[in-house]
Amino acid sequence: MKALVVTGRNQYVLKTVPVPEPKEGEMLVKVEACGICAGDIKASHGTARFWGGDGMPAYCEPPFTPGHEFFGRVAAIGGKVPGDFSVGDRVISEQIVPCGECWYCKRGMYWLCDPHNVYGFKYYLNGGMAEYAILPAGSRNYHVPDDFTLEQGALIEPFSCSLHAVRQADPHEGDTVVLAGAGTLGLGMVQALSQRRFRQLIVLDLMDSRLRLAKSFGADEVLNPSACNAVEEVKKLTGGVGCDIYIEATGHPAAVQQGLDMLRKAGRFVEFSVMSGPSTVDWSIIGDARELTIVGSQLSPNCYEDVISSLKKGTTRTEGVITHRFPLSDWEEAYRVAQTKDAIKVVLIP
Ligand SMILES: [Zn+2]
Ligand SMILES: [Zn+2]
Repeated sequence: MKALVVTGRNQYVLKTVPVPEPKEGEMLVKVEACGICAGDIKASHGTARFWGGDGMPAYCEPPFTPGHEFFGRVAAIGGKVPGDFSVGDRVISEQIVPCGECWYCKRGMYWLCDPHNVYGFKYYLNGGMAEYAILPAGSRNYHVPDDFTLEQGALIEPFSCSLHAVRQADPHEGDTVVLAGAGTLGLGMVQALSQRRFRQLIVLDLMDSRLRLAKSFGADEVLNPSACNAVEEVKKLTGGVGCDIYIEATGHPAAVQQGLDMLRKAGRFVEFSVMSGPSTVDWSIIGDARELTIVGSQLSPNCYEDVISSLKKGTTRTEGVITHRFPLSDWEEAYRVAQTKDAIKVVLIP
């Protein structure tokens, strides 16, 4: 089979490799599509967060096949697996494969599992940028309806991360929520938010095309901070008080200060992004000046089933989110396009 293989820092090659054989408790999946995540892009740049250096340990353990945003059809099953799967079924695996043994796993917080094995970064857990992938024993697998489009299947993973962030934000009646960043994850959050009851959703992004999509998915107001003073506009839309909840989904350090500036006292700051660099703020704003609550959001615990059913019902939509599709052989061009402004989600079709 064809597989993208990362043999070391900045060393990516398309190879022909043997189709893996599922061992006891494993499933072999014929991959239908695999999205390119911001994390895959950052790993491809050889950044310290993934490859070590600057005081950080290496997360990547080559050789591996990247890709954790994949789904496909069961091609073979090794012995017995949980979840009533048969050959030919469509399946998606949660991006993290928990160890089941660590402090977090033992307390049910599997998404914070200490070894933190996500598909597509380690030689023992290859991802979906290949014709076939193995779902190992202990993986968390879900049925994907047969009538799902490629878009619906490929967006289950990112939209599940969006749903968890919205659960962390936990808006209530009367709240004004500001969401900064309308990329794939932000657009998923707009939709998860629009299924909750609160006063208004204001979405910020530097790209008008993304703001139009956000509006079509249910944003009440959209603002482009490059064309207005976003802090002043949010204050105007909240009677001068500021927003109740701010969700940071841009990955840009400047969006942190922006959020602190537009939150009301006792507001809630939800951090979702992988930042492009450190953010420096006057920390006293959290305590002495505003009494803010800071909440993080990682991965997508207990979200896949709800996202699949909401996609099935049509309450979560996918139009316009996948902007580009490439065959696996064009992975290099796909990675390049994924970093351009016109791209929202780029998927590879093995
Ligand atoms: Zn991802
Ligand atoms: Zn664990």
